[in-house]
Formats: sequence, C-alpha cells, structure tokens
Amino acid sequence: MTYLDLFDTVTVISCYTDAAEEFPSQADIIHDALLEYHQLLDIYNDYEGLNNLKTVNDNAGVAAVEVDERVIDLLLDCKTYYEVTGGAVNVAMGSVLRLWHEAREHTLTDPDDPVLPDMALLLTAAEHCGWDTVEINEQAGTVFITDPLQSLDVGAIAKGWALQRVAQELPSGILISLGGNVCVTGPKNEINEPWSIGVNDPSCGTEYLCILSMNTGSAVTSGDYQRFFTVDGVDYHHIIDPETLMPSVFWSSVTILCEDSGVADMLSTVLFLTTQERGQTLLDEYNAEAMWVDPQGNCYYSAGFTDYIRG
Ligand code: AMP
Ligand code: MG
Repeated sequence: MTYLDLFDTVTVISCYTDAAEEFPSQADIIHDALLEYHQLLDIYNDYEGLNNLKTVNDNAGVAAVEVDERVIDLLLDCKTYYEVTGGAVNVAMGSVLRLWHEAREHTLTDPDDPVLPDMALLLTAAEHCGWDTVEINEQAGTVFITDPLQSLDVGAIAKGWALQRVAQELPSGILISLGGNVCVTGPKNEINEPWSIGVNDPSCGTEYLCILSMNTGSAVTSGDYQRFFTVDGVDYHHIIDPETLMPSVFWSSVTILCEDSGVADMLSTVLFLTTQERGQTLLDEYNAEAMWVDPQGNCYYSAGFTDYIRG
C-alpha cells in the first residue's frame, strides 16, 4: 500500500500474505499510527485540539506548552544526539533551517528568481540555536523555548524515530519505507527469505547503486539528491553544516544500516556532515554500518556493510 500524506514523502507498506483482502486494513492501522507522529512533530501545520511542535515553536518566548509524552521522549533523544554528534545534528537550529527552507521554496516556486539565504541573517539566526533555551519538563510534560527567536525542526530524526516506535509494535514480516527510511520487522515469508532494499544512485536518484538484503532492522539514506534547489548552476541541498551554515560538502549520499531506525536516521544525517573517519567512530558506538558515496560517485564501506549487498 502507498500513502502520500506522511512526513512530506512517499510511504510504502509491504507484506506477503495469504489473506490479501486483510492487508489494506493492516496497512491502514500502520499508516494511522505514523500519522499521529506526523501531526505531533509537524512544524508547519496546526491540528485542532492538538499541541504539536508548531505550537511549541509558536510559543517560543511566550509560554511552556503541554505536549504528548512522545514529543518529550523525542526531544530528549534529540538532545542526546546533539551531544554525541558534537552539535552537528541540532534540531534546535530551526531558525537557520527555516531560512534555507524559505530560499528553497521560493526558488522552486519561482525558478526565474533564484535566491540563497542572506549570510548576515544566517549568522544572526545561528545565535539562537542552543539547548540552554529549550526547557523540557518531564514531570509537567511541557516544552518551553525561552528564546523568542528560536525554533525546533526535527526533520533529521523524525521519520526514523517515528518508524522505529511504530515498527517495534508490529509482527514479523512487514516492510515500511518512509521516504529514504526503510524498516523491516523480520523475513518476508515463511521460508525466511530476506527483503531486498534498493539504495538509490545519488547521481540520478532513479537507479539503484546496490541492492541490500535484510531480515530485520533499518536502512536509512541521507542524500544531496533528495531535496535541493539550484542557483547560478550550483545545487544547494537540505543538510546544513552548523559550522558553515551552508549545505555540507563531504558526500552525495550516506546509507546507514542499524537495528534502531531512529538511531539510523540520526547517523545518516551526522555522517553526511562529517569525514569518514569521524563517522566511523559513531558507527562503532552504535553498532551500525554505512556506505558513503562521494561527489565523484566513489563508494566507501564500513567493514560489515558489504555483507548486506546482494549478489
Ligand atoms: P535527513 O534527510 O534525515 O538527513 O534530514 C534532513 C533534514 O534535517 C533537513 O530537511 C532539515 O529539516 C534537517 N536538518 C538539516 N541539517 C540539519 C542539522 N545539521 N541538524 C539537524 N537537522 C538538520
Ligand atoms: Mg536523518
């Protein structure tokens, strides 16, 4: 089953079943669970009767906002990820990411008037990205951004994090693909055949660079071909290096294999933002594997990654 209304991307839910007529309702249940996360973590839309991350952002400098405990849990994980990545993956830098988002939307809507974010505005926004001003009160179940110029953007983590929490409640034998995030809950059939998962070639985005064979866990890709816009013949993608406030320049794509989809999503973003050597240190910490593709199309692998490549 395919859905188009989750996390601004395409979702595919697959499973092999003898009772095909039952599958659509199973898939709809999975979809509805993901939709709850989508709405809770949305920073662009309001939903009646729901406090989500947009409500938290709208109340920056104004008031603490009571939120679902899943939002608190996610933000606590994001804070940990900020620390373990040395600030490279920072969901509290919504102010910077918003300027890039606006420039991209403007340019894609009106290609005759391409724009980049203004560096002076980016530098000012970068002064409002710390975690001291994000107060997470677990007892009260509230989040308060005390700096009125600050906001949260959990795009680097949200898909994988939500997918993990939904998938871990499911029976074996289901594959869910949420944009670049794929999660499988066990072999695809009774004779324990693994799932095949294609990794897009970043140079064209439509062909596969390799096919992975997986029974459980997640495969998550961050790539420069996923979301980008072009100004004066130069492509600007969506993963922003907090040091330069510009799109990072290390890789065209990074694919992570990891049991936990939320961790995989965090790793895909941070590895995209750093050298292979520094990335490998994080892979070791989280028991994960990676494939890096550089802008020339050369592939590099962590020691265990190639075991997953089919054929
Ligand atoms: P992903 O595709 O998982 O690597 O996530 C990319 C998304 O994360 C972007 O669309 C932004 O919303 C957000 N993002 C970009 N750069 C960063 C960063 N350095 N830290 C946290 N979030 C980021
Ligand atoms: Mg990510």
